[in-house]
Amino acid sequence: MLALAGYPLGLSFRFYDEVPDAPAGQLAPLVVGKFDDHAALDRFADGLDVITYEFENVPVAAVRHLAQRIAVYPPAAALDIAQDRVSEKKCFQSLGIQTAKFAAIDSEEDLKAAENSVGFPAVLKTRRMGYDGKGQAVVKSHTEATSAMHQMGGKGLILESFVNFEREFSIIAVRSTTGQTAVYPAVENVHSGGILRQSIAPAPGVSKEHVAAACKHAEAVIKSLNYVGVLAIEFFCKKDGVAANEMAPRVHNSGHWTIEGSRTSQFENHLRAILGWPLGSTEMRSGQAGMINVIGGVPDADAVLRLGAHLHMYGKRPRAGRKLGHATIVGNAIEESVRQLRAVIERTNC
Ligand code: AMP
Repeated sequence: MLALAGYPLGLSFRFYDEVPDAPAGQLAPLVVGKFDDHAALDRFADGLDVITYEFENVPVAAVRHLAQRIAVYPPAAALDIAQDRVSEKKCFQSLGIQTAKFAAIDSEEDLKAAENSVGFPAVLKTRRMGYDGKGQAVVKSHTEATSAMHQMGGKGLILESFVNFEREFSIIAVRSTTGQTAVYPAVENVHSGGILRQSIAPAPGVSKEHVAAACKHAEAVIKSLNYVGVLAIEFFCKKDGVAANEMAPRVHNSGHWTIEGSRTSQFENHLRAILGWPLGSTEMRSGQAGMINVIGGVPDADAVLRLGAHLHMYGKRPRAGRKLGHATIVGNAIEESVRQLRAVIERTNC
């Protein structure tokens, strides 16, 4: 989607991935290599003007290696923090941003101490490499927590208090190398099984006060990290305010609707930001936009398009639980259209 947004700007692309059938290879030359293969990384970097990434589990060492020769955005320091749920929460707290209570878990003793400080119910997660609900379990007792801890390898974990949130939403912000910043309208998200299912913007059920607080938090994070590119922060809406859950130093799934819904998509603005070009308007093109993820199975394109939606399939091989694409619908009072779109797509989701 970055390349598709960049070609009209006259840009050209080269991709790097560990696997030869990476979907990006359908759009531009693909260099295949491991992330610790410096020779392959150097071959990839040869002649490039700027490098970015859209997958937050790229090893920081690979980014630092590339950054010795060529500008890489977002900065490695932001990636480093975002890859570790403990550093991420400490970063939020250092900026006065509320989070769930949490404790790092590397032993049974840590778990015992955390049960007192964090309490139950709680969510046990791997500190690193978790995504789409992988590497996490809701635990309600010492027995459940101990068993989940052993299943997850016994260390490198985090125990978080279970947040009884009213809603979830994300803020997608962007900052250019020139320091110019912009923020998209807040996005209300629905997850199930830890996977994003649905996004609607502007977030219909989130109060202006909560959105304003979250935008202020996003600006603080961006400033403190001297950030460049698109940054997404996911928030929980609670009775007493907003709490940050996590951040993603990249274009984000909850911002895919911006392709049709915004004057400038998150993908185009990410490219503008890393090139130091003026950012485009983040205003909505029409009233509202809704996005539904295609997960695991291929939907009936005809039925999706009949609803007036736009379909984006990523060229990935279907596999249960894998994000294969998304569909977006724009207009006014779209909640009913989103419900219909979700029903059509979920017929084939698995
Ligand atoms: P994450 O991988 O942290 O983004 O978690 C995926 C989803 O799981 C979130 O969007 C929430 O719906 C849910 N979740 C994660 N952490 C918590 C928590 N501490 N309390 C309640 N729900 C959570």
